[in-house]
Amino acid sequence: MSEKIPRLPDEHLGRAREIVAEKRTKQKCKVCYDRGYIGTNQDNMLVPCSKCVDVEGVMEGWRAYVAETPALKELYGDYFEEEEEEEGTDEGEDKGEGEGEGESEDEGESEKSDKG
Ligand SMILES: [Zn+2]
Repeated sequence: MSEKIPRLPDEHLGRAREIVAEKRTKQKCKVCYDRGYIGTNQDNMLVPCSKCVDVEGVMEGWRAYVAETPALKELYGDYFEEEEEEEGTDEGEDKGEGEGEGESEDEGESEKSDKG
């Protein structure tokens, strides 16, 4: 079985280049002429330069970008599906506020005895 990856729309190449640029580990590189990527593959995906770029970091960054871009998620959601991700669980907190009970003070009259 061979999987076919949809061609990346050109409009997203710019962001791909940015992600690659962010993950560069060296300033000077003869392999990619300091671009950070070799070129694009048959799927119009950017091919990062493994000599000067943290390729795994790029993949992570790209996955995140795909996840937050609905159009890309539709195209590549299956390919970049994350294995397991546990988002913060939302726990509803109920705050019960009881009203303080009114306290009444009884005034006791003390008996006075007059002597005189
Ligand atoms: Zn390079």
